Amino acid sequence: MTSTIPAPTSAPAAGPRRPISSAPPPAEGVDTFESLDPATGDVVGVHPVGSPEDVALAVERARETARWWGGLSFAERADHLLTWRSVITRRLPQLAELVHRETGKPHGDATLEASLAIDHIAWAAKNAKKVLGPSSVPAGLVMANQAASVEYKPLGVVGVIGPWNYPVFTPVGSIAYALAAGNTVVFKPSEYTPGVGQWLADTLAEVVGGRAVLQCVTGLGETGSALCTSGVDKLAFTGSGATGKKVMAACAETLTPVLIEAGGKDSLIVDEDADVTAAAEAALWGGMSNAGQTCIGTERVYVHRAVFAQFVDEITEQARGLRAGGAGAQIGPITMPSQVDVIRSHVQDALDKGATVVLGGPEAIGERFVQPTILTFVPESSSEMTDETFGPTLAINPVDSMEEAVERTNATRYGLAGAVYSKKRGMEIARQVRSGMTSVNSVIAFAGVPSLPFGGVGESGFGRIHGADGLKEFTYAKSITRQRFKPPLNLTSFQRDEKAEKALGLIVTLLHGGKKTLR
Ligand code: NAD
Repeated sequence: MTSTIPAPTSAPAAGPRRPISSAPPPAEGVDTFESLDPATGDVVGVHPVGSPEDVALAVERARETARWWGGLSFAERADHLLTWRSVITRRLPQLAELVHRETGKPHGDATLEASLAIDHIAWAAKNAKKVLGPSSVPAGLVMANQAASVEYKPLGVVGVIGPWNYPVFTPVGSIAYALAAGNTVVFKPSEYTPGVGQWLADTLAEVVGGRAVLQCVTGLGETGSALCTSGVDKLAFTGSGATGKKVMAACAETLTPVLIEAGGKDSLIVDEDADVTAAAEAALWGGMSNAGQTCIGTERVYVHRAVFAQFVDEITEQARGLRAGGAGAQIGPITMPSQVDVIRSHVQDALDKGATVVLGGPEAIGERFVQPTILTFVPESSSEMTDETFGPTLAINPVDSMEEAVERTNATRYGLAGAVYSKKRGMEIARQVRSGMTSVNSVIAFAGVPSLPFGGVGESGFGRIHGADGLKEFTYAKSITRQRFKPPLNLTSFQRDEKAEKALGLIVTLLHGGKKTLR
């Protein structure tokens, strides 16, 4: 039986193109689903719906392979991962085409996304030893006879569940770091981008002689749900907060630890001394690129009243000519058809509550494509300001001060990322924003810096991918003390005498009894 995920309803613009998925066609009798080109409705590929048994089998294979993969040295694992990185790089046009077909995003955006992911694979491979390998730590005066060290061991098998909006960059943020740390991975990609998930697993399999280092199990939500309770040692989920809650509840049954990378409602703050042209360019790209379907996309903009009119004029001018759909368009379709209704309801709610349309508006919302929409004076209580819109809309409001901008920015249940444009106070304002990542005088820059941890607070989730934190996320800390010589004071023995206890009291008083405080 073949099921189809909700698809665009109007006729394809062009005839169907040849599927480019690398997976062999599913065996007869296997439940399947189709992935579709959201711009045309063409079938891009047909994929099996992974059953709980398929998931269990994949986890079993992954566990066996984890003994080999986890037993390799950091250098050997790095060697495999860097080869994988090179294979992906050489086949970048093929991967970009597949991402383009399954998500609808322009080739350039697909290439940018995959390039950032490649950089992350390289960073994780090259830095795993330094971050996770054994390192000595001071034992302290009381335990001076001990050599103390800490190292970070792989958890075993990591389950990764991914979204469709960045089907390479987002899951690779978990996969590359989990693999570099010595885990094997079972990956359930979004039902909208199964071909991309399979492509990633297939290319790594080529590099490791077909071993089950990274396996892809395609399917819908039920397949993801089966992965949560399959006995994996950690579940890394990226997707909506609503699904994240289900994932956490399912994982709680087996006390499986979870990493949740969920949605956001990020703001871009513009100070009165900011470069207004640059800030407008950044807000436009942050809000409209990938048709606004970016977890760390700009959804709200707070502009100092002194430059508000100038900013609105500037961004409106820059937005002229920016179109979704059509030849050479810089904005693609809305990948998930049901999202169009969410976007429409947010825009309508803003207008019902008194917002002003500067560009686009309700009539800009089509069946598959949403044209850039800019609203101003948007009431803070409207869903356009409180909920993730995930479409090419921007809500721009004036503020009297940067304190007010920060207060409004932080008045959200999310806390993923954001941006600040200010010449003098950028760092100061960035530090006050309650979110996992902020870029000053640029937008989304942190995502391209592999050494920076990536993740949110509040309903944007918890845990971190990327950077040293992202490597440690898929490990457990192993502490070891090695006695170098017999202790002058034998404290952990029933032979301990009064003299030793007095000496300990004296040492502790000398060390900690004073009034000195850190400044
Ligand atoms: P989604 O929650 O609908 O689906 C995500 C994944 O979960 C899919 O693979 C889906 O099949 C699976 N799933 C569905 N039900 C499940 C269940 N009961 N148990 C286990 N898995 C289940 O999200 P989406 O629409 O694919 O992605 C968009 C969302 O992802 C947005 O909210 C966006 O902000 C967020 N996102 C966050 C980040 C980040 O890093 N914080 C990155 C990209 C996307």
